[in-house]
Amino acid sequence: MRALLDVPNEELQSWLKARGQPPMRVRQLRRWLLLGRAESFEQMTDLPRELRQLLMEEYLPLGIQIARHLVAGDETHKLLLRLQDGQLVECVLIQEAGRHTACISTQVGCGMGCLFCASGLNGVARNLTAGEILEQLIRLRNLLPVDGRLTHIVVMGMGEPLANLDNLLQALEVAGSKDGLGIGARHITISTVGLPAKIRRLAELGKQYQLAVSLHAPNDVVRMHIVPTTEKTGLQAILAAADYFFERTGRQVTYEYVLLRSINDSVAHAKELAGLLTGRQAHVNLIPFNDVEGLPYARPTDHDLQAFVNELRRGGISVKVRKRKGSEIDAACGQLRRSSLKEEAQALAVGTGRL
Ligand code: SF4
Repeated sequence: MRALLDVPNEELQSWLKARGQPPMRVRQLRRWLLLGRAESFEQMTDLPRELRQLLMEEYLPLGIQIARHLVAGDETHKLLLRLQDGQLVECVLIQEAGRHTACISTQVGCGMGCLFCASGLNGVARNLTAGEILEQLIRLRNLLPVDGRLTHIVVMGMGEPLANLDNLLQALEVAGSKDGLGIGARHITISTVGLPAKIRRLAELGKQYQLAVSLHAPNDVVRMHIVPTTEKTGLQAILAAADYFFERTGRQVTYEYVLLRSINDSVAHAKELAGLLTGRQAHVNLIPFNDVEGLPYARPTDHDLQAFVNELRRGGISVKVRKRKGSEIDAACGQLRRSSLKEEAQALAVGTGRL
């Protein structure tokens, strides 16, 4: 059965028309899901009872199941979601300083293969539909008190957002509209490992989305080791596309840099990074690596982290170290999905006598 969020308005309208219903029912249904927090047709009390019955026979109001819901001491919520085809994705609600930020996924797995990332360990299975992307926002918003609303979106979960740009933009359009979740483009950050053609397309949309480019290295040699796609797309092409984004939108670009001990965290790396970004409208977000089971990387020492920050500041670069949120609930992207897949595989092996 299809989830209502994945049914285009025109299709829904003709389905309703064939059942003698006026076109305004489309808006009514969307309002229930987006604003009214309905998770079943039964809750849509201003729809005729017979229509609710017909809808129940044909569609699902929401199509995703919450497989696990973890809450950390700092009120970070993490949802492991089971899609209709059984695939798992993650999304996170981060709460601090009056902000309620949804971090969402755009693909099942990821094809970019960054070495430090749990999401990319098994490659990409498929793109999420626009409805599946939107539903993550609805599920996270529904965790807030009735008068609470999401204030920000970061598209930094599982997957490369620009590799699924059409579906993402469709979902963000609804998220941004007044009849939707009312989250302005300036409060939405799209993160990418760096697909120049797609960055340019994003720049030309005439929207005020924030762009975050995952750099992770100050040169192609180090980056090649960490982000395999560097072989096809060197840093210069990515930076040129990011500059174009700034020219077209006037929005400062954020550069994300995961610090891995002894790999990209030396003062020399910081100096080189400062050189790369000098003269650009850039802000650097440093992310000390979150330990991931099965990966042979470590966080930098506090001393090395501070030295890295100092060197960037000496080079005149605006820099911030990202705080660790929800670390006790496998909050690094892809970790919860990975541990759940492992548990399921073990349970299956026990069931079939293979353990
Ligand atoms: S860090 Fe992002 S782009 Fe890289 S593998 Fe993980 S999800 Fe994909």
